[in-house]
Amino acid sequence: MLNRLLELADTIAIGGHVRPDGDCIGSGLGLRQYIKDNYKDKEVEVYLEEIPEKYRFLEGIETVRHEIPEGKIYDLFICLDCADLERLGFSAPLFENAKNTLCIDHHVSNPGFAKENHIVPDASSTSELVYELINRECVSKEVAEALYTGILHDTGVFQYSCTAPSTLRAAAELLEAGVDAPKIIRDTFYEKTYAQHQVLGRALLESILFLDGRCIASYIREREMRFFGVDRSDLDGIASQLRNTKGVEVAIFMDEIRPNVYKVSLRSGDIVDVSVIARYFGGGGHKKAAGFTLTGTPYDVINNLSKQIELQLEK
Ligand code: 5GP
Ligand code: MN
Repeated sequence: MLNRLLELADTIAIGGHVRPDGDCIGSGLGLRQYIKDNYKDKEVEVYLEEIPEKYRFLEGIETVRHEIPEGKIYDLFICLDCADLERLGFSAPLFENAKNTLCIDHHVSNPGFAKENHIVPDASSTSELVYELINRECVSKEVAEALYTGILHDTGVFQYSCTAPSTLRAAAELLEAGVDAPKIIRDTFYEKTYAQHQVLGRALLESILFLDGRCIASYIREREMRFFGVDRSDLDGIASQLRNTKGVEVAIFMDEIRPNVYKVSLRSGDIVDVSVIARYFGGGGHKKAAGFTLTGTPYDVINNLSKQIELQLEK
């Protein structure tokens, strides 16, 4: 299906969700490089917001565009890892004006908003879906590195329950294409700056337990982020670390994006479906990892959330 659409298009744009993560970046750059390698006469551009430093090693990263050209109409816009048009951010006008659109995604909240949709909510990552759609025998080392990075990040290094036999098979084949897995795992997943570790430590130290120890919450204010010299991309992994607390089913981590406006990250264990809660508050995501934005103090957020969490814990 993907190859058929690529053949029909001379100009192709690839976009992903705001504040792009490893899966969004890996699937976007992997697909771009696949098109460059195998459809040499096609024009292909990737549109994403600012990319965190740790992904700088990926092929083509310097060509990623952060602004859209005025009046440009693409034959095909491919929207990756993005559950709705709003989450596409600045590249949404290119999607709306494109002659054809394709969405490849694994968010359960994705309604299938493009003309052609390949949405598989159980898939580990968009990068695994892209790998399944491209020709295996045409995967270069650079494509493999990008897709491996994406799978790695959305599975928490093959740890989360979304990791299926097919995920490990895809990863194995990508290793055969020459990926230096230990290096990518260390440099992009485990390595943190000193400031990132300080912020993580602070979030753990100041966390509170509630609902009989089945929920944990922590937050960071804008002024504290300035104090530590960190930005939002430095907070990756904090919500998951909170969730690792023994006895905890749901972890909540909030970071202040404007005065008293919080970006809320939710992580859950085997019982609560946090995508349902995130959607209730206007966001979205997956069963065990979801998010949304809410106005109020952190305690307002916790109060509002605990009602929704209790509803599911009582079932
Ligand atoms: P994170 O907590 O890492 O920011 O996000 C966890 C998951 O929830 C990701 O898959 C992300 O795409 C989704 N998510 C986070 N925030 C939002 C939001 O505001 N809206 C939607 N639709 N999805 C979100
Ligand atoms: Mn993803």
